[in-house]
Amino acid sequence: MAAAASPYIEKTDEQRAITEMVRQFADEQILPNAEHFDHEDLFPEPIVEQMKELGLFGVTIPEEYGGMGLDLTTYAMIVEELSRGWISISGVINTHFIGSYLLMKFGTEEQKQRYLPRMATGEIRAAFSLSEPELGSDVQAIKTSAKKVDGEAYEINGQKMWVTNGLRSSLVFVLVKTDPDAQPRHRGFTCFIAEKEAGVSENTGPYAGLNVPEKIKKLGYKGVESTELVFDGYRCPAQNILGGEQAGLNKGFSQMMDALEVGRVNVAARGVGIAQRALELALRYSQERKTFGKPIAEHQAIQFKLADMATQVDAARLLTLRAARMKDAGERSDLEAGMAKLFASEAGRFCVEESLRIHGGYGYSKEYEIERLYRDAPLLLIGEGTSEIQRMVVGRKLLQRHKI
Ligand SMILES: Cc1cc2nc3c(=O)[nH]c(=O)nc-3n(C[C@H](O)[C@H](O)[C@H](O)COP(=O)(O)OP(=O)(O)OC[C@H]3O[C@@H](n4cnc5c(N)ncnc54)[C@H](O)[C@@H]3O)c2cc1C
Repeated sequence: MAAAASPYIEKTDEQRAITEMVRQFADEQILPNAEHFDHEDLFPEPIVEQMKELGLFGVTIPEEYGGMGLDLTTYAMIVEELSRGWISISGVINTHFIGSYLLMKFGTEEQKQRYLPRMATGEIRAAFSLSEPELGSDVQAIKTSAKKVDGEAYEINGQKMWVTNGLRSSLVFVLVKTDPDAQPRHRGFTCFIAEKEAGVSENTGPYAGLNVPEKIKKLGYKGVESTELVFDGYRCPAQNILGGEQAGLNKGFSQMMDALEVGRVNVAARGVGIAQRALELALRYSQERKTFGKPIAEHQAIQFKLADMATQVDAARLLTLRAARMKDAGERSDLEAGMAKLFASEAGRFCVEESLRIHGGYGYSKEYEIERLYRDAPLLLIGEGTSEIQRMVVGRKLLQRHKI
């Protein structure tokens, strides 16, 4: 990998080349089409097909399994650019990225060989499922359970909620309870790699017992589907326990928490992307729109808004890249990932709202892009742990690191 050309740019040559390529893709393919797919709540199939051709489903998957073998930092830069275009596009690869991370870190060699090459091309896509109708933040309250029913398979029963890519995925990394008596509770969960048929609501044959109800109707984050998953006597071979039965049984909680750490960097990058786009729209509109005989950008109150937005964008980006670089360097970054996720998702919300205000009445019209951003941004405050949960993570880690 080439060294950074300038300490101010803070990107290697490779990172610069790939982010420029993705930015161009966002400008030419995502931004001109996002309003259409958003308004119709349609899955952006043509954009996703092009993402496959660009290799974007295999960014972090090692070259030996057919991916690009790039690090989390480069991935975060790519996610920022995609999210600048439309956060639903980054949603299509987000859970897939988490699934590939889980496989790379905890999977057996056989599991890696079986899934990673097809995941790298986007031929199969992955979903990630913790939440249930009665829980999201409190993961240890999971009720969906698995029991060994014969020598080789576990039967999974229960209902999952809010599964992004729930319908079109072929693999679901699903956390279920396997030891109801475990103390502490987190020692009783296992991550299964549940296979299913992509795009099918009622699975049959080897995947019978896994059904996908109608997609959930949402405020924003359209295009990419969020669904429930109903496990009703679904049989999952023991060999599909992440890491294998011997090493993976009842180890799912810590595996998933590890994955959430990189997931938080990923959501932080999405916050940076949407905040950046809101700033760009505000910069343009404020120089076009005139009130009291001059462009509104010449009113100090508007300049202050632009200044606050730009400061938030830069700070969010720096926090995000720091967390990603620490993880790439093999350092613990749970606190930093929590800070980045908290700050960048709130920066996304802040910048989008300020940009909407700058757009005045037009910001409330579906004719203007900022209206979509205003509906999309709140998701980032919720997914991968709410802001309250991030504060809990950061506070707890701070006290651990500074124990007296
Ligand atoms: C569009 C979308 C896509 C999603 N995709 C996925 C996915 O792919 N996979 C998946 O597993 N999940 C997914 N989720 C679920 C998401 O992770 C949860 O919604 C989130 O973790 C919050 O859980 P909850 O909705 O159950 O809220 P709750 O946990 O019920 O929280 C409700 C409120 O209480 C607050 N709260 C909770 N506990 C505390 C506490 N101890 N102290 C202070 N405040 C607290 C929360 O911050 C929140 O404000 C998705 C959600 C959405 C909206």
